Amino acid sequence: MNGIFIGLGSNLAAPIKQVLMAIKALHALPETKLIKQSSLYASPPMGPQDQPDYINAVVELTSQLSASELLDQLQTIEQQQGRVKLRHWGERTLDLDILVYGDQEINDERLTIPHPGLTERAFVLYPLAEITPDLIIPKLGNVASLVQNCPRAGLNRINLDLL
Ligand code: ADP
Ligand code: MG
Repeated sequence: MNGIFIGLGSNLAAPIKQVLMAIKALHALPETKLIKQSSLYASPPMGPQDQPDYINAVVELTSQLSASELLDQLQTIEQQQGRVKLRHWGERTLDLDILVYGDQEINDERLTIPHPGLTERAFVLYPLAEITPDLIIPKLGNVASLVQNCPRAGLNRINLDLL
């Protein structure tokens, strides 16, 4: 079975620290194992341009939690890290999205999985391709092909050794 893939993003309050702290929190989730984590990436904002650049990453988990239980946990982590979100596609301290949950396709009032917009977002696809190029996403296909059709749009991998 496919793993579970979570997209992380932050552009407020020391975004690199926010993303690293969130990865730690994911590591500590009940009934959940962190399998892989991508590099961190920096990207220009989507939507309103008068906001800081984003730091993004993707991690792979396995978990006994259902998608909905996992969303509860992700929202708790967002709150713990002082989540504020001021406007649609606007700045936020931490955003945790379920990109892929195994082979599941979910469309209910709380969850759309695979995450909509995944195919157009370089800051999701490039880190995903870094950790799992051979993944086949339900309805969307192979990650390596998806990434080939997605311009980098200013996305840069961050070398943490240089910081
Ligand atoms: P966005 O991530 O689109 O900028 P938010 O993080 O504020 O917006 O999320 C808004 C709502 O998106 C959440 O309350 C959640 O129920 C819903 N949602 C739908 N699908 C997903 C998903 N795959 N992962 C995370 N949240 C999702
Ligand atoms: Mg979100």
